[in-house]
Amino acid sequence: MAKPDSPASTDNSPPPPLLGRSKSSPPINDCCPICFDDFSVPCRSNCDHWFCATCILEFWHYGASLKPCKCPFCLRSITSLSPEATLLSSKNLEVSRVLKNVDKYNSLYAGGASGMIMKVRTLPSVIKRCLLDMSDPTRRDYYYCIVRCIALFLSLIYMAGSFDFLPIGFLSTPRFFELCGLIFMGLVQMFGILHRYWLRRRARNLAADAFPQ
Ligand SMILES: [Zn+2]
Ligand SMILES: [Zn+2]
Repeated sequence: MAKPDSPASTDNSPPPPLLGRSKSSPPINDCCPICFDDFSVPCRSNCDHWFCATCILEFWHYGASLKPCKCPFCLRSITSLSPEATLLSSKNLEVSRVLKNVDKYNSLYAGGASGMIMKVRTLPSVIKRCLLDMSDPTRRDYYYCIVRCIALFLSLIYMAGSFDFLPIGFLSTPRFFELCGLIFMGLVQMFGILHRYWLRRRARNLAADAFPQ
């Protein structure tokens, strides 16, 4: 992507506080620290580092976590991404698609009432992130405890309400709910294995394209 030219120095306006750095556009002669290429749809993080929008969102997707992406530079949590000012008026369809994804990311981590409303609007993405987080083998025990607690809670409601629509059979009600939770966790873990296999294959294909033998 073409970088903005340096402003003409014929006027008497003072130079910017940090030469070559601006809040609205990436540093001149710099490149994306993730793909080491020219910035494509440049976005500034709340920690003042610039990335291609697609690169930082991909980086975030690789971490199976509900938490915001950690900046690869300073390790601060990225809670907002600000696209380069000139992009906001772009009519390019691909740029608009990427900016929509940036908006979705920002809405996930916006605080306050508006943040809550945006979270509800992006519920499918939140559920997907939640499932990805649950499929992380390093967090399996943590989620298994949560699922067991939820199963116990639901079984208490089921028994208190004297419901009788589930095929509980010879199991006790709490055991039945726990078994359902166990099956759910098993399916999520299987999904995680398939997802990681797909990511590894994609990374291998990208590496093969970038470094053909
Ligand atoms: Zn990049
Ligand atoms: Zn940073």
